[in-house]
Amino acid sequence: MPHLMNTYGRLPVAFTHGQGCRLFDTEGKSYLDALAGIAVNTLGHNHPSLVKRLSEQFGRLIHTSNLYRINESEALSDRLASISRMDEVFFCNSGCEANEAAIKLARLYGHQQGIEQPTIIVMEQAFHGRTLATLSATGNRKVQAGFEPLVSGFVRVPYDDIDAIEQLAARNPNVVAVLFEPIQGEGGINVAHSDFMRSLRLICDQKNWLFMVDEVQCGIGRTGLWFAHQHAGILPDVMTLAKGLGSGVPIGACLASGRASGVFKPGNHGSTFGGNPLACVAALTTLDVIEADELILRAAKLGDMIRQGLRDGLDGASGLVEVRGSGLMIGIELDRPCTELIQRSLEAGLLINVTADKVVRLLPPLVMSDAEGQEIVAILVPLIKKFLGA
Ligand SMILES: *Cc1c(COP(=O)(O)O)cnc(C)c1O
Repeated sequence: MPHLMNTYGRLPVAFTHGQGCRLFDTEGKSYLDALAGIAVNTLGHNHPSLVKRLSEQFGRLIHTSNLYRINESEALSDRLASISRMDEVFFCNSGCEANEAAIKLARLYGHQQGIEQPTIIVMEQAFHGRTLATLSATGNRKVQAGFEPLVSGFVRVPYDDIDAIEQLAARNPNVVAVLFEPIQGEGGINVAHSDFMRSLRLICDQKNWLFMVDEVQCGIGRTGLWFAHQHAGILPDVMTLAKGLGSGVPIGACLASGRASGVFKPGNHGSTFGGNPLACVAALTTLDVIEADELILRAAKLGDMIRQGLRDGLDGASGLVEVRGSGLMIGIELDRPCTELIQRSLEAGLLINVTADKVVRLLPPLVMSDAEGQEIVAILVPLIKKFLGA
């Protein structure tokens, strides 16, 4: 037995290398990767541009310190500001850290306005991470159980429900921010309505609240726009990123704009590794390739194609609730728990995931070809039909 803490129920497979959207295990068997390390491997595996630029960077400089200027992190902050139309970026190393930064920013913003018990509105089925503050913000008891006392200062409402937020606006003077995922990933690929986001933007403006989006999973081109909130045509005050940003090299980011910019001053927050040259080159390369190869358009088109293929293939199957999602964030909800589909799919040479017990989740790399998209459908449809007995 390896000396690993028992934090994951791992599948009995280990990979030795990857190429494009394929992974190869220790037995030499090949798998089509429809999960991308949970929305991380934006450029698939072994992408030539990423390998080249990371190798060059390895030979030049890996880490200095935020005690000095870092050209690569300044360049990346400019790139992110330009594609998001936001003002400032704080770099860290993961999604939960990006959300920690957002939560700290919102609290500091509240205190600067004289609110001594700043409260953040969060949502049911949300997932924001596993640090103490972010698991407290998460809307899933399984993530929280055993880790009480939870961090206070959060109030929870149903997802995508503007009335619940209006009621809080009328009666809770301590609210300083709303934090939510434009598309909930772990929660089951739940897509917020554009109307909801636009109405929420108005409430935040009226109440001086910060509109904070967790785009750790749905950001970086995956939904057919750079960021999922852009489908609603609004601009957030705070946005967090991580997973797909570095194509596998750990990096997280907390972006601020408008009334959320300028809140942090030297000494308020920090990260030893955050924004180091290596991670920033991985992110810059990811953004460059997405742009050069028009991968955002690819995500939109391929996502539609896969969803249509799944709908056609599963049409009439009893036990299918819905095929949904946006771009390459795809959920297939069944009427029963279906985690055993993960193992069956693995045996069939396809890597998928199941979340919220009943939702098959697909998060393929953005570089996936049409043929590979069709292959996902061809493998998955019969597996799901057989599982449902339909
Ligand atoms: C994965 C995820 C996180 C946590 O990211 P880590 O890098 O695992 O800390 C936070 N928010 C969302 C929406 C996520 O999908």
